[in-house]
Amino acid sequence: MPESSGNAALFLDLGGTLIKLDETQEIPQDSNGSVIVELLDNVADRLRPMREYLMFVVTNQSKIKRGRFTMDQIEDALRVLDQKLGDILTAWKVCPHDDADGCECRKPKCGMITELAGLYGVDLSNSIMVGDSPADEGAARAAGVKFIHARDFFGWR
Ligand SMILES: [Mg+2]
Ligand SMILES: [Zn+2]
Repeated sequence: MPESSGNAALFLDLGGTLIKLDETQEIPQDSNGSVIVELLDNVADRLRPMREYLMFVVTNQSKIKRGRFTMDQIEDALRVLDQKLGDILTAWKVCPHDDADGCECRKPKCGMITELAGLYGVDLSNSIMVGDSPADEGAARAAGVKFIHARDFFGWR
C-alpha cells in the first residue's frame, strides 16, 4: 500500500446536512433575516470525536445572489454553527452564485472542494463529502472524494 500523503478531510454540506431547513426546504431566517442555526440530530456528537479529519463546510447559497440574505449573514451563521459544534471547523467556502453565473464553485462542480484541498494540503482520495443532495454527490464525484449521504453518516432513521 502506498503511503497516503496529505490530510484527510470531511467536506460538509450545510442545509439539510448540518442544520435544519424550514418547511419549504430553505435555510430558515428570523424576522431580521438572520439565519436560524439549529443543529440536526446527532451532528455534534458524530463530528466532535473525528479529530483526525480537517472539517470544512462547502455550501451553495444562491439566496445571496437573489438578495434574500447577505454573505455577512451566512458567515455569521457559520460562526454560530462552529461554536455549537465545539470549534471543530477548519474553514468554509460559500458559493453565492446561481446556475446562470456559470461559476466553478457551485455544486455539483467541485471548485470549493479543490480550492480548500489546495489551501490545506488535503488528500482527496482519503476524504469524505457528507451531504443530502444530488449536487453534493456530484461535487464529491467530481473531486474524487467518497460521498456519504447525511442520513447514513448521522444515523437518521
Ligand atoms: Mg443540503
Ligand atoms: Zn459559485
